Amino acid sequence: MERSLRIGVVGAGLGGTTAVGLLQRAGFNVVLYDQMPAFSRLGAGIQLGPNVMKIMRRLGIEESMAAVSNEPQYWCSRNGMDGVYLSRIPLNADRARYQAPYITIHRGEAHQIMLGAVDTANVQFGKCLADLHAHDKGVRLSFMDGTSDEVDILIGADGLNSCVRAKLLGPEDPLFTGWIGHRGMIKASKLAGLDVGECVKWWSSDRHMMTYFLDRKKEEFYFVTGEPAESWPLGVSWVPSTHAEMHKSFAGYDPLVRAYIDAAENITKWPLYTRKPLPVWHRGRVVLLGDACHPMKPHMAQGAAMAIEDAAMLVRCMAEIETNDPNTCFEAYRHHRMGRASRVQEVSNANTWLRTDEDPSWVYGYDVYGVDLHA
Ligand code: FAD
Repeated sequence: MERSLRIGVVGAGLGGTTAVGLLQRAGFNVVLYDQMPAFSRLGAGIQLGPNVMKIMRRLGIEESMAAVSNEPQYWCSRNGMDGVYLSRIPLNADRARYQAPYITIHRGEAHQIMLGAVDTANVQFGKCLADLHAHDKGVRLSFMDGTSDEVDILIGADGLNSCVRAKLLGPEDPLFTGWIGHRGMIKASKLAGLDVGECVKWWSSDRHMMTYFLDRKKEEFYFVTGEPAESWPLGVSWVPSTHAEMHKSFAGYDPLVRAYIDAAENITKWPLYTRKPLPVWHRGRVVLLGDACHPMKPHMAQGAAMAIEDAAMLVRCMAEIETNDPNTCFEAYRHHRMGRASRVQEVSNANTWLRTDEDPSWVYGYDVYGVDLHA
């Protein structure tokens, strides 16, 4: 596509930020809008596999991310009740196979490094998209603050409650999965003397707790859980929670898990949403990526990874396919992404990933730049 086109990206999350960084490197004229008044450092952890780190390499930030993150040698699954090992799967212990690291990192830190790879001259915070009007020649954007803008192409990277998706396909609430997740941060010094695993998922019949370090020095530790819940109030993105509520939920679990709960600071509770796989990823000059397109339960730690892979494939299609027809370009993007994103969505929602020994190379070994691109 012509590099002179003005491309708007709505949503400076992990997917939108990746798209902007890669579009700028490919020579496109991009503007990034986000509703937040400024960058906010979400206090949570995130796991990023070799499939993502190969994209961070293209943004020139693979090394800076690896420098501040932990690189677990193995993924381990353990029985929550008696601690018995259910699986032990090489991650960085098999680095040569994947040709990139598997990192666990503070999510805010990762996001900040990614934003540092973007030319900020065209980043506009405090711009909440309220409406859009797509026509033959471009897309007119209207923001909540009363301002408007015009772009040639619009990328909707605005997450689970995407305004772009609603305008494209009509409003539809995301589906509450009947699950919530607790998140907790722990100062590792509070766990001194305990046999803390680098990257361990604790399982029982209907709930789990994922645990890992957030930094190279192993000073910060983190858990995120999956637990059944009857309902969640519509429109509430998270609420504070308590040690008592978590102890009740994880009653009978291994003493190590209970020690993690005791040591946690600022426990929060989040609803887990999904949507049905979406056949329509684009219309006219508007295209979707990441959670705006295919949100999933986070049990495979691949939601952000799919948003980042989407961004990389979309930019490849825009830069490499010789066409100025948005439909040809976006249809190639959908063709190359839909099967993989839907499969990951399915496995993630089923919550079976790496519970027992299995080969994870179809996820971690994927290289978006190794895909043979065709229109
Ligand atoms: P988001 O990160 O949601 O970004 C959307 C952006 O759009 C935001 O910045 C928002 O402010 C902006 N926006 C929204 N509406 C508007 C508007 N109208 N106008 C302007 N801007 C707007 N994934 C992993 O890969 N690994 C993990 O370990 C992991 N752990 C998780 C744990 C939990 C508890 C949860 C809930 C999710 C987890 N995920 C994980 C999933 C991951 O967080 C999401 O899949 C990922 O953030 C999606 O990225 P995105 O860029 O599509 O959207």
